[in-house]
Amino acid sequence: MRVDVVSIFPEYFAPLDLSLIGRARANGVLHLAVHDLRTWTHDVHRTVDDTPYGGGPGMVMRPEPWGAALDALAPAEAPPPRLLVPSPAGVPFTQAMAHELAAESHLLFACGRYEGIDQRVLEHAATRMPVTEVSLGDYVLFGGEVAVLVMVEAVTRLLPGVLGNAGSLDEESHAHGLLEAPIYTKPPSWRGHDVPEVLRSGDHGRIARWRREEGLLRTAARRPDLLAALPADRLDIRDIAA
Ligand code: SAM
Repeated sequence: MRVDVVSIFPEYFAPLDLSLIGRARANGVLHLAVHDLRTWTHDVHRTVDDTPYGGGPGMVMRPEPWGAALDALAPAEAPPPRLLVPSPAGVPFTQAMAHELAAESHLLFACGRYEGIDQRVLEHAATRMPVTEVSLGDYVLFGGEVAVLVMVEAVTRLLPGVLGNAGSLDEESHAHGLLEAPIYTKPPSWRGHDVPEVLRSGDHGRIARWRREEGLLRTAARRPDLLAALPADRLDIRDIAA
């Protein structure tokens, strides 16, 4: 997969050299390049922002550098990438979207700062490539960089060959619409708290049932919205009894 990121703070992306993402880059599974938006400015101050039309506080990112950046990274003669623009006004980023993005061959992230990017950049880009404004959650960050780090990490771990044990992907929270059950390791007793007996029983059928029930209970307590959205055919009669 090819990933391009455009930001006025390329230094934010240093952690993408670490751990499993660093290894995916070294192995050639992920071709990631971070670009400084100011490369596409032409004035002495390398200006990327200006005051908002209509008034109001803050500054808005000007369209010219963004237009030139997108022209360079998504040239008309090449297959278009999918453009993702972090925004608190975007559609929510979910594990389902991470899977959708993991199936793309080229992602292009445009990191906004200040009050965001002039909307015409997105309108024009949409005439040449799919564009999605994506929100990390119902809160406001300083800029899109942290949101892009999150999205790149969520997508990269879904790429074939990145996780040591791909089985984890099938058993974790959000894989099948539920949260994962609590997890434990050794020792069996710690500060008066014991690992549930069932997990030490060696009875794989009972362990699977316990995990399912705990996942359901956690989801009902913490995320009733997920439970309500679960298609009926994802539940069986034993779930309903639980
Ligand atoms: N004026 C914008 C609004 O009210 O919707 C907020 C701009 S925010 C201060 C600056 C940048 O941070 C945004 O352009 C976006 O790139 C990023 N950002 C902030 N909150 C975000 C969120 N919840 N999800 C994704 N990106 C976010």
